Amino acid sequence: MIKLSFVGDIMCEMQQTEASYKNGEYDYKSCFERVKKDFEDSDLFVGNLETPLAGEHLGYTNHPWLFNTPVEFAKAVKDELGIDLVSTANNHCLDRGIEGLENTIKVLKEIKLNYTGTCLKNETNKPFIFEKDGIKIGVLSYTYGTNAIFNKQYLKPSEKNMVNIFEEQEKKISRYNIFSRLIKKLYRNKKITKNIQEDIKELKDKVDYVIMCMHSGGQHNSIIDKYTLNIMDILRKLGVDLVVGCHPHVVQKGIFSKNFIGTYSLGNFFCTPGTSSSPLDKLSDYSIALHVYLEKNQNLKEKKVTFSIYKTLIDDFKSAKTVLLYDLIKENMNKENVKVLLKDNCTIYNIFCDSKYDEIELQKEYEIKIEE
Ligand SMILES: [Zn+2]
Repeated sequence: MIKLSFVGDIMCEMQQTEASYKNGEYDYKSCFERVKKDFEDSDLFVGNLETPLAGEHLGYTNHPWLFNTPVEFAKAVKDELGIDLVSTANNHCLDRGIEGLENTIKVLKEIKLNYTGTCLKNETNKPFIFEKDGIKIGVLSYTYGTNAIFNKQYLKPSEKNMVNIFEEQEKKISRYNIFSRLIKKLYRNKKITKNIQEDIKELKDKVDYVIMCMHSGGQHNSIIDKYTLNIMDILRKLGVDLVVGCHPHVVQKGIFSKNFIGTYSLGNFFCTPGTSSSPLDKLSDYSIALHVYLEKNQNLKEKKVTFSIYKTLIDDFKSAKTVLLYDLIKENMNKENVKVLLKDNCTIYNIFCDSKYDEIELQKEYEIKIEE
């Protein structure tokens, strides 16, 4: 049997980079020290790295919506958290332009952290293939766009291979296309690039299970937008077995049927509480880790699927930390705090499982009932 684990957005705000700078160097180890143990038995552990690692000469910022983070963060993601693969097709991958995207790939190669979704200009954008105990898994990563409106980084035709995008990259806003943009926003559906259909088809012939890291959705909103509902539907029809959704920064519901698992958003696995999250939404500090257990020659409906709930906190040194909510509740001595955390645990459970329990038993890992 193999165990696959997936977490959502791994963010690194400037507050974190400042808190991690000590004695002339960056050290992010403490961010993941509480959760390392939870993923040690995962055979493949995947998360969304939502920042370029473009280099200090291009400046470390996260404002306004432009990220760049020291490579030490990715090292901690790999060595402390234990992530095996990061999805890099997301709306921040061009925050430092083509140079930033290429530098990111070069340092990921250097530190030997696997990635999928972006590539160097002279490379082919390839899925990640993993094999263990005779089970072959293929992972793709695609994004709805690259924030071109904010970072002004428009890919030339010769650079389009560098980021996997569901449709075309966003176009510059002009008075000529503002009306067509509006129409597209209201009615766009059923249009994805040919590449993705070919990618999925090709991968299906090579592997037992196709996984898509989908970067899409309305941010800080537990209601799923029409565009993302449509993308999920298309991916399901194209034969993807598991969709791992990221980008909304809050947990959204999942689909758990016998032949298909689709999660719209696992939430922020790592972020600085109160920074990237909307003040309207107190649930952005919570996230889901999804675990899928597979056996050779197993029918997809016989698989075991579980999940755990995580929360990010700020420690005494102004550094963020991800903690298993179960651990946090068990060690918390304050009755009122425990009551609030238990209520949030139930809320996140209900959102993810689309259920309506008034209370649920506290568990480290919840098993999901697969629908017929
Ligand atoms: Zn995003």
